[in-house]
Amino acid sequence: MNATVRTLLDLALPRECGGCGAVGTLWCPRCEDTVCSAVERVSPRLDPGVPCWALGPYSGARRSAVLELKERNRHDVAVPLGRALAHAVGQLRILGEIDPPELSRLVLVPAPTRARAARVRGGDHVERCVRATAAELGQEVVRIPSVLRMRRGVRDSVGLSASERQANVAGRIELALSRSATSAGRRHRGRTEVGDVAARVGIPRERTVLLVDDVLTTGATATESVSVLKNSGVRVDGVLVVAAVR
Ligand SMILES: [Zn+2]
Repeated sequence: MNATVRTLLDLALPRECGGCGAVGTLWCPRCEDTVCSAVERVSPRLDPGVPCWALGPYSGARRSAVLELKERNRHDVAVPLGRALAHAVGQLRILGEIDPPELSRLVLVPAPTRARAARVRGGDHVERCVRATAAELGQEVVRIPSVLRMRRGVRDSVGLSASERQANVAGRIELALSRSATSAGRRHRGRTEVGDVAARVGIPRERTVLLVDDVLTTGATATESVSVLKNSGVRVDGVLVVAAVR
């Protein structure tokens, strides 16, 4: 594309950085530096019982990027966020928090989002970020089983307190087992045996499993998700999010 055509396109469809709004680029180097800074250990009010890490606080470029992706259908923003999450995975390995790929393959489980919200957004934005993360990790095969889903009845959590958020998701996150996976499981007292659920949903044992989400607020969704996975025989190694609310 020559410069004139590009300029005309920019005039017709002005490009803005998904992190800071700078004109003329979809993502600027400064926002790239901001989101790819040192990964932080965070402690949400509701403790999922596994380590939680964030790319940083829910402010500035991280907050804008999440909102652009989530509320304004800027699907392109998933790419730099995925790159930053992949960078964080690399840091966690250097820090010895998670095993290197030679020892344990990586499984990234997208945190569940409300189905209705995902439909409005033209797809699940968390899953989109996770796919971009896997693409960035390139050389290694990363599994992305979308095994968690929210049942109907979960409200938008904006404005809810920690206890209200907890009540909002309690018992409303479940494994999204396919019909064949469910029928293959033995039933015991009306409940599916959980022994090999992990394998049936695509999470073999001896893998490093990270739950990935966009924003960690009170930890309600992470706690419920980790609990559902644990009850299904999946050992979760940690929670990794783009941003944590402080
Ligand atoms: Zn920017």
